[in-house]
Amino acid sequence: MIEILEARKKQVYENKKEARFDMACDKASLAGAVSQRACVFCGSRVVLYPIADAIHLVHGPIGCAAYTWDIRGALSSGPELHRLSFSTDLREKEVIYGGEKKLYAALTELIRHHHPKAAFVYATCIIGLIGDDVQAVCRRVEAEQGIPVIPVHSEGFRGTKKDGYKAACDALLRLIGEDDHSTPPEKGINILGDFNLAGETWIIKDYYRRMGIDVVACITGDGRVDEIRRAHNASLNVVQCSGSMTQLALMMKEKYGIPYARVSYFGIEDTAEALYTVARHFNDPALMERTESLVRAEVNRIYPEIQRLRCSLEGKKAAAYVGGSFKAFSLVKAFRHLGMQTVVVGSQTGSQEDYAYLQEICDEGTIIVDDANPLELSRFIADKGVDILVGGVKERPIAYKMGVAFCDHNHERKIPLAGFEGMLHFSREVYGSLLSPVWQFSPARCRLRTAEKETRNERSTCKTNIAA
Ligand code: SF4
Repeated sequence: MIEILEARKKQVYENKKEARFDMACDKASLAGAVSQRACVFCGSRVVLYPIADAIHLVHGPIGCAAYTWDIRGALSSGPELHRLSFSTDLREKEVIYGGEKKLYAALTELIRHHHPKAAFVYATCIIGLIGDDVQAVCRRVEAEQGIPVIPVHSEGFRGTKKDGYKAACDALLRLIGEDDHSTPPEKGINILGDFNLAGETWIIKDYYRRMGIDVVACITGDGRVDEIRRAHNASLNVVQCSGSMTQLALMMKEKYGIPYARVSYFGIEDTAEALYTVARHFNDPALMERTESLVRAEVNRIYPEIQRLRCSLEGKKAAAYVGGSFKAFSLVKAFRHLGMQTVVVGSQTGSQEDYAYLQEICDEGTIIVDDANPLELSRFIADKGVDILVGGVKERPIAYKMGVAFCDHNHERKIPLAGFEGMLHFSREVYGSLLSPVWQFSPARCRLRTAEKETRNERSTCKTNIAA
């Protein structure tokens, strides 16, 4: 039996085809439930972080900056300013007398020293309390230095991580449209919500290049300020991380009339469908033909090895707990490709619509959870006999402590999991982790084996007694 806190009961369900449910999602985490979610500031930091030629200045105590330093494995093909963690390092004096002077001095010095294309200033919890006028300081520095200086209203306590995404989207919208002199390409798209983890944006961009599509801006993977300023020239916004970027796509639709499509580049079907969605948008038979031959060539290249790995993975059980729900959908399908069943799945930022779709694609009995905590996750993993957990840095210790295989599908991953070749890497990673001999030495597994042995001994003693 899995015990759930009373106030969380409407955020955890066992999938039953005959009994549909409405997930009570999109709300603040329950106090005391030790949510896996990060704060508002962290939400905006992870979205804007990959813009590599901008300064990212965290206005607050040093801990907020340290906690998010180099938070994503977002690679850059050029400048690497994003990897530096700048902070105004507020102390007691500024908490009492205000931190505006320190912010002005830090911004001026950083811009003079690093010559960035723009600066983002993140407001943390303490700024919301002491009431610094971050906007006014940014305006003044922008006028003096001649580059965009953009405040990000991301005080940690202002809501959930999703509100941080919204703050980041507001900041991005300020930049978009600033370059009015560029010419729109004939078939141009923006890639939204891919963060170039382990070079994934480069894989996706290469598919579009082979299709004959121009990528106007990557927001924000391997991001550049000038590209973002031209992003209004695209004909379509292709949104990958739906949780963080649908908001920006909606705002661009309203302001510039650019339509958007939600896609996923994880797994074979979803990657192919993403490329076909873009090809269909431009309604060009030659483009569609190129897309079909690209998909055929890529699938033929990876399929034999995936089939070979599948032989050893067939019948294994998986759990996935991720940030955005689109990734959860793709993981359920990707595991099915490997002959595996997803028995636990959840996300930090899914919407009601997302959870309704998860109900449709998941098997009977799958646990579907919104905003889970470590205690719940470990109970579900044990209860469902999970063989591998897919998650991020906060889920990894749960798997290792329980002696369960783990696959990192979040910020820290070092191998690309997007696109067709990403599916191959994912299959190899699942195979390597799940079939590793190391798990037999895990104390948790040893305890489990001892308990099973004792139960077997008890049963045989019982049988002997009955026979006697
Ligand atoms: S919760 Fe507040 S203090 Fe903590 S990291 Fe987030 S912004 Fe900083």
